[in-house]
Amino acid sequence: MKNRYTTSIFQALVLTTSLQYAQSAVAAGFDENPAHLHGHAQLNLVIEHNQLEIQFNSPAVNLVGFEYQASTADEMARVEKLRQQLTNVSELYRFSGSECQLKTAKIDLNQILPEQPIRHTKPSDQDSQTEHHDHYHKDEAQAQHSEIKARYQFNCTEATKLTVIEVNFFNQFEHLNYIQALWITHQKQGLSELERGANYLKLDE
Ligand SMILES: [Zn+2]
Repeated sequence: MKNRYTTSIFQALVLTTSLQYAQSAVAAGFDENPAHLHGHAQLNLVIEHNQLEIQFNSPAVNLVGFEYQASTADEMARVEKLRQQLTNVSELYRFSGSECQLKTAKIDLNQILPEQPIRHTKPSDQDSQTEHHDHYHKDEAQAQHSEIKARYQFNCTEATKLTVIEVNFFNQFEHLNYIQALWITHQKQGLSELERGANYLKLDE
């Protein structure tokens, strides 16, 4: 399984390093976004042989403007648009030094998707509280935070020569203004901070 494979890569690499940030990241659950700061997102990148794996986690509000379960047609349309944006990787990443072809993309929008079909009010002998009850679920969800997760696997021609990745999420998501990137390559690992206008992840520095 892909997940197990990735986990083993993370564990193997982290066990061989004493770098504090890597240990902290794993302790915090490497693929989570522990801070959940609106406007901020997390990107984790691992290169193993010619395989490149990228995880992108972001508060939902950065990407669709809300963090509750979509219910209206407009909200569902925004979720569907997001799915397309996160799947269209050529608009999100540009690789320099090696060509990389997308192998799999797994987009997890579960936290903003309805758990079940929207209930409709049935005519009944209940009093006016019925209507309030129908909206209860959404009101309750609005108090929560939601995360969007995307995981990508690429096959690269010469992954060791992959030097720069242009990360273009800022172009598409105006409410996203900061990405913390943790990366591990064959030679190095590092933590980079990406912002609008400073969106090049440099793996050779
Ligand atoms: Zn939130």
